[in-house]
Amino acid sequence: AAKEAGKASLARFEPRMRHDMVSHATLAGELRDAIGRGELRLLYQPVYDLVTGGLHGFEALVRWQHPVRGFVSPAEFIPVAERSGLIVPLGAWVLREACLQLAAWRAAYQDGAVEAMNVNVAVRQLRETGFVDEVAAVLSETGLTPRNLILEVTESSVVDGWQVSETLEALHEMGVRLALDDFGTGQSSLSLLRAFPVDVLKLDKSFVDGIADGADRGRLAVAAAVAQLAEHLQLKAVAEGIESREQLERLRDMGYRYGQGFFMAKPLPPAECGPLMAADPVRAA
Ligand code: C2E
Ligand code: MG
Ligand code: MG
Ligand code: MG
Repeated sequence: AAKEAGKASLARFEPRMRHDMVSHATLAGELRDAIGRGELRLLYQPVYDLVTGGLHGFEALVRWQHPVRGFVSPAEFIPVAERSGLIVPLGAWVLREACLQLAAWRAAYQDGAVEAMNVNVAVRQLRETGFVDEVAAVLSETGLTPRNLILEVTESSVVDGWQVSETLEALHEMGVRLALDDFGTGQSSLSLLRAFPVDVLKLDKSFVDGIADGADRGRLAVAAAVAQLAEHLQLKAVAEGIESREQLERLRDMGYRYGQGFFMAKPLPPAECGPLMAADPVRAA
């Protein structure tokens, strides 16, 4: 009977599975060439200090402009990159490109430039034995200090990969900071804070969404609790996905010192970031 049931469910799911496998393989193959062909680029979303209103940093977000398919969302190709292992070279490109960009801005804008670049990393990258050396090499090549780099890891990914804790400790020792991305959505948010040397909590957008209308007391309570947790543990609290002034003000009043979101700025091409940086640029970009 189990065999029959297995057959039945296979029959039901096979066409879709086959479609997914083909598109996964195709996409993975194309992604493999995308770096070399220069189809990937980075946008930078400003992170603001919600108290002073000043620009605090940037988060690098990868984009793929496919010659035929057009724009492919990272929500679509990052999972493909993770499953195929391509995230390792892709992530290496992102890390280096983002650091080169920050170094260029810090040279061009000096006092006006931001201190930190946030770079998303997949757990698969952290598991590579050479990852700590790779980070050190990029910092040394670009002349940045470890304080200039914040690596963002989603909590679900680190939960699945406890063996990354040595890598995270080594990065922390070096002075590179670690942010827990999409915080609050995972299953063991609190235990992660004890297991890993975390510096920044990024409250997931889903908690920000329901904040202004006040309709969702549960999400509101989580948002407030995460801010308090950050304060008690002396971590930076960042709210992501802020889309209205009301959300911004309520989050700031809750204790979120930093925030990102379309209300302030969407992810921008580098040329549009320069003007945000210095009222008095040393050398205009
Ligand atoms: P994430 O790291 O949590 O990044 C935040 C996402 O929310 C970004 O989507 C950003 O464009 C979007 N966002 C920011 N503010 C708002 C807002 O106010 N409203 C709305 N609706 N969205 C907002 P994006 O760029 O599509 O990236 C999606 C996810 O893909 C990222 O989530 C991250 O997990 C992953 N990703 C992006 N770039 C990289 C990368 O270079 N490496 C890795 N490993 N993952 C990346
Ligand atoms: Mg992120
Ligand atoms: Mg996030
Ligand atoms: Mg996310």
